[in-house]
Amino acid sequence: MSAYKEEEYLMLSGIQHFAFCKRQWALIQIENVWQENYHTAIGNILHERVHDSTNFEKRGNIIISRGMPIFSASLGIRGECDVVEFVKDSGGVKIHGRDGKYVPYPVEYKKGSPKKNEVDILQLAAQVMCLEEMFLTNIPYGYLYYGQTRHREKIEITKEIREKVSAMFCEMHMLFKRGHTPKVNPSKSCNSCSLVNLCLPVLCKNKSAKDYIENMLNEE
Ligand code: SF4
Repeated sequence: MSAYKEEEYLMLSGIQHFAFCKRQWALIQIENVWQENYHTAIGNILHERVHDSTNFEKRGNIIISRGMPIFSASLGIRGECDVVEFVKDSGGVKIHGRDGKYVPYPVEYKKGSPKKNEVDILQLAAQVMCLEEMFLTNIPYGYLYYGQTRHREKIEITKEIREKVSAMFCEMHMLFKRGHTPKVNPSKSCNSCSLVNLCLPVLCKNKSAKDYIENMLNEE
């Protein structure tokens, strides 16, 4: 199994942007452009609330960890889990300072309700793959919790979704290495894109956002 160096690690959460629009991911990760809109602001508030208490909590046979840092050398990614529930299970792994064995299940918090696309599932699958590599165990599923429905869904992490996650991070690493930002490809995603004003999908068809901003600064 090949492994990335730590300095090559990409942000795990970038998979949501990449699945939404490859150009959006590149603007954020390669060109360091970010703009907050209503959707990202609400999402950040929800995440801050989840990460508020950065401790371990025990509830019966479950140990709950909030804001846990995670990584995968084989995928070349790092990130953080909103919540990891370590459920006591004889088929699990030993955890330092605790009796018995546990299987870690990630719980990812999202604003709104379940989406029609698989963006949230891809992110959850990446978290599962990191935890599997860190704890040398198998994790067949994780959970997505939605703020609007106040309900969590159990999501099976299939072989197909794992392959998709691996392929997407592989492509992200290739783009990142080349410093390549894909050209504008207007779609209905642009209507809810937090970078629409910087990307300018209609006016700026063949330019990178970096070029656009540089031109703006030169004109001042
Ligand atoms: S405005 Fe459209 S093309 Fe540009 S980054 Fe957003 S979704 Fe992608």
